[in-house]
Amino acid sequence: MGRKTTHKFKAEISQLLDILVHSLYTNKEIFLRELVSNASDALEKYRFQSSTADNGADDSLPLEIRIETDEEAGTVTVTDTGVGMTREEVMANIGTIAHSGTAQIAKLAQEGKESLDTLIGRFGVGFYSVYMVADEVTVKTRSMQPDSPVIVWTSDGRTDYKLQELDEDLPRGTSITVQLKDDLKGQFTNTAHIKQVLTKHSNFVNFPIMVGDERVNTVPALWREPKFQIKPEQYAEFYKFLTFDSEDPFDTMHISVDAPVQFNALMFIPPKSTDFLTGMNRDNWGLDLYVRRVLIQHQNKDLLPEYLSFVRGVVDTEDLPLNISRETLQDNVLMRKISSTLTKQVLSHLEKMAADNADRYAEFWKEHGSIFKAGYMDFIHKDRYAKLVRFNSSEQEDADGLTSLADYVSRAREGQKEIYYAYGASREALALNPHLEMFRRKGIEVLYLYEPIDEFAMDTIREFEEFKLVAAEHADPAALDAFESKADEPDVPELNEEQSSTLDKLMARIKEVLGDSVSEVKVSARLSDSPVCLSNPDGHVTSSMDKIMRAVSKDTSIPVKVLEINPDHALVRNMIDIYAKNNDDPFVEQAARQLYESALLLEGYLTDPHALVGRIQSLLTQSSGWYVKAED
Ligand code: ADP
Ligand code: MG
Repeated sequence: MGRKTTHKFKAEISQLLDILVHSLYTNKEIFLRELVSNASDALEKYRFQSSTADNGADDSLPLEIRIETDEEAGTVTVTDTGVGMTREEVMANIGTIAHSGTAQIAKLAQEGKESLDTLIGRFGVGFYSVYMVADEVTVKTRSMQPDSPVIVWTSDGRTDYKLQELDEDLPRGTSITVQLKDDLKGQFTNTAHIKQVLTKHSNFVNFPIMVGDERVNTVPALWREPKFQIKPEQYAEFYKFLTFDSEDPFDTMHISVDAPVQFNALMFIPPKSTDFLTGMNRDNWGLDLYVRRVLIQHQNKDLLPEYLSFVRGVVDTEDLPLNISRETLQDNVLMRKISSTLTKQVLSHLEKMAADNADRYAEFWKEHGSIFKAGYMDFIHKDRYAKLVRFNSSEQEDADGLTSLADYVSRAREGQKEIYYAYGASREALALNPHLEMFRRKGIEVLYLYEPIDEFAMDTIREFEEFKLVAAEHADPAALDAFESKADEPDVPELNEEQSSTLDKLMARIKEVLGDSVSEVKVSARLSDSPVCLSNPDGHVTSSMDKIMRAVSKDTSIPVKVLEINPDHALVRNMIDIYAKNNDDPFVEQAARQLYESALLLEGYLTDPHALVGRIQSLLTQSSGWYVKAED
């Protein structure tokens, strides 16, 4: 047995360890992840070195990681058959702060620009994370170098560590025994819990992880394997393992990239939407980020933009340090490069699907389209986004039909320069929308928008293949009138001069009745089936956008709009006659209010229906009286 020597930690380390234990990770279990990943690194190094040099390595030892617990002693031990460490290596690697995260923290802390606390939040510290759970740690290691002695390193992680050489004939590798703090003994000597933690963070480590006789990591890191070797069933199995879905994935994307950053990604489009962006599932999205098969972050939300959050999967890169913290990840250049590549890959994948198989794309769209639509905020990919969005439209047979903007354009009428759209609660509601009567008559297609987000999409796309996107209610009726009608124009005799001048007076009277609730009463150029409609004064946002803005600013007042009158409608013609006979007839006032309130009702602004209902009842009473009389 060699002599025992005591070595002081550098000052920064003691301080670091202290802070570490108290503040670094809220999640104590990650110490296991760190120890296992170090073991895996050591095994990887062994495999590499034994294949390149003949150095008397013992090939009979299985390359594996073993975890043992001792309830009585309150310890957990992680053992590997990797490269091991010489005395010098132990001192250099775990006795000082020579390695990555810790070194940076100490260096920056010395420069005094940032407090140790913030620094520790920004970098991880690998091996030292064990002191979150340990009172004392013993590292027993034997290097693969011929004739290396067994070295024992022990420390309580406060001020110093002890080094000792043993004469024992131990096999190559490293064994780390963690003497657990009293309050954590139960938790980390419980093998069921240990297995659970390992499956969570270390499931794809490249060497068997044994807890007792059981291998914990049974699923291979499929994303690291060559594509041509993987069967669809394997992808499906992996997808189910990853998402707990019981169905096969709708689609699989397996990519591996070498430049500008190295990474592998295995991504899936689930067959069903899970509505992650609403309600309880709001945060349940994101790709799992691995660094060399070790989980760094579950459901990372920086790798893909939110509008692609339906994509599930994993990303693994060699280029990030394992002990990088969440905060550092967020503004990491490498992460941004990976994210930009991934986003492009997913978009290309969708474009290809849309081009190769429109039905399949429609299937995708029905599940995930409403999430994808939020992509209007991605200005960089605006053009690609515009090609990928789908809408229902007046040309479709039912509410399930979908059209792309390109399809719309291909159907546009000769001379048409604009793509028209209208927002409504349903296809039925849009069919009754007075603003669309003109479009129906002229056979001009209108995109039907059912979700408020659709209109934001329209606002950002703005233009598609030289076509301007225009809200149907903003279309210029004169320009539309230039198109030849597809439907029969209603056969109504023109107003004679006298009727025309009565109409003017009637409109003035209606304005008088409605007062400031309307800004203007005017003859409509767009109506054919409805007697009246409300429109916005020129240059205003669309009615639906107006509604959103009012909801946001909690404005519950009724907007002041223009009342457009259809002079060819039978009701308006009757009103002209009634007014001509008696410009004081109470029916005119009653009808004016009724028409205005019905229009409000259609637009969704009528908050108090009492007056309207009262009027309907008295009109029904009156007309039924006439009806009975006429029957006699
Ligand atoms: P990192 O893994 O990022 O280098 P760590 O703090 O986790 O930082 O580990 C520090 C160093 O200690 C490692 O780089 C390695 O050289 C050495 N080391 C730790 N664990 C082992 C092990 N099980 N076998 C061999 N070397 C190890
Ligand atoms: Mg490490």
